[in-house]
Amino acid sequence: MRVLSYGRQHIDEEDIAAVVAVLKGDWLTQGPSVSAFEKAFEDYTGARHAVSFANGTAALHGAYFAAGVGPGDEVLTTPMTFAATGNGALYLGGSVAFADIDPETLCLDAEKAREKVTAATKVIAPVSFAGYPADLAPFKKLAESCGAVVIEDGSHALGAMRDGVPVGKGADLTVFSFHPVKHITTGEGGMVVTDSDEFAGRMRLFRTHGITKDPAAMEDVPDGPWSTEMQVLGYNYRLSDIHAALGISQLKKLGMFTARRREIAALYDSLLSEVQGLTVPPSSPGHSYHLYPLQVPAGRRAEYMARLRGKGIAGMVHYLPVHLHPYYRRNFGWKKGDFPESEAFYSREISLPVFYGLSDEEVRRVAEAISEIAGS
Ligand SMILES: *Cc1c(COP(=O)(O)O)cnc(C)c1O
Repeated sequence: MRVLSYGRQHIDEEDIAAVVAVLKGDWLTQGPSVSAFEKAFEDYTGARHAVSFANGTAALHGAYFAAGVGPGDEVLTTPMTFAATGNGALYLGGSVAFADIDPETLCLDAEKAREKVTAATKVIAPVSFAGYPADLAPFKKLAESCGAVVIEDGSHALGAMRDGVPVGKGADLTVFSFHPVKHITTGEGGMVVTDSDEFAGRMRLFRTHGITKDPAAMEDVPDGPWSTEMQVLGYNYRLSDIHAALGISQLKKLGMFTARRREIAALYDSLLSEVQGLTVPPSSPGHSYHLYPLQVPAGRRAEYMARLRGKGIAGMVHYLPVHLHPYYRRNFGWKKGDFPESEAFYSREISLPVFYGLSDEEVRRVAEAISEIAGS
């Protein structure tokens, strides 16, 4: 019996061949695979622009930069996310404001977010937690009223549908990650999609040192055809063609990956929703189940985790609320009790294994283990 982790990649021969083909070619980076991957993403999401990055964190950093986040500006988000959602604001000298989650969706609560809007709010960053497509309408309204930009951290939600439309269309900018536990992988990689020419241009500049080679975009008259110009302080956040080739090949399988994640979640739902003391995740027709965040009885999470591990099931916990990380507590004065819904959810949460290669038999094995622990 294999040890089951909460997530893992699925790589097939076609993926391997795609990467090998790039290795045998002329371009390892800044070549045609990167543009082809971006084009495939534009086609899938229906967004005008897709801009690739070295990883999802760099993509968030680029999206916040595009939105103009700087010193004195706030990014308003949920504490129930990966630290990177907040860190992107800090990299730019901005600050992070939090509002609690709605326990019915596990996503940022729009009413609570409204109370946290200030004159400094530059970005509102809802996270479609676990793959549940967050309702963006109230955030768009809120952003309009205060002149903020809506950036969805869609790292959990590639393949999810909101009212029949893929996540990636809806916010001003949407960020994805291609870490191996996510829906598709490039090893490391990220993408931002947007309909805005201006945001896309700023991100393309930002990911390559802030340097442009385009004579038409230059501030000064070019000295010659060799001229380049650094216009903003950027980074080297480029995705390589090796990664992009894997991404193109993986994106073709997104529908298949997502369908299997939904099947697994439906099976868990049917096996666990009646078990005393457990709370299964919120469901939504468009959910893409990056995670299956089960809540176990308060006070018993450590016991569940230990007993699952004894049965070869390596659950994970998502997440320690960001405001409770020592760095955030120490530097910004956050403390336990600041966001009670997120903290209560965290204290009960275990992410059960959910990934393409997980068999029905393995799902049953996990559910039986959980039921056994619940009943004793
Ligand atoms: C994975 C993830 C990120 C960061 O992506 P990386 O590719 O690992 O840098 C950001 N936000 C959320 C919510 C994530 O799950």
